[in-house]
Amino acid sequence: MKVVKSEQEWKSQLSPEAFYVCRQHGTEAPFSGTFYTNSTQGTYSCICCGEALFESDTKFDSGTGWPSYYESIEDAVTEIKDSSLGMIRIEVRCASCDAHLGHVFPDGPEPTGLRYCINSVCLDFEEK
Ligand SMILES: [Zn+2]
Repeated sequence: MKVVKSEQEWKSQLSPEAFYVCRQHGTEAPFSGTFYTNSTQGTYSCICCGEALFESDTKFDSGTGWPSYYESIEDAVTEIKDSSLGMIRIEVRCASCDAHLGHVFPDGPEPTGLRYCINSVCLDFEEK
């Protein structure tokens, strides 16, 4: 289901940091978030709309200071070519509400070889 809200609605719902990262395409400082070291079993969802995005089974320690996953939940995210900062990267967004989540890089572990590098502030977590 698509979630569409005005910038003002997002602003009143989210923390200033989450609004900046999710809705204004920002990046949190590495090693600053809540979840990069979280190894509890559970499900990570979108802070904006609550849609489930990543399972803890696919999380790994990338050493980057951001929560990293080798796979998203099926169809939960969209991937968009991003040529900002003079680099070609693949941006990862929530498929439901279009929140900016982070980027995906082709240097992750098996079985996918992908590394979804996600801002902690974009995520909520529910323990299993
Ligand atoms: Zn969302």
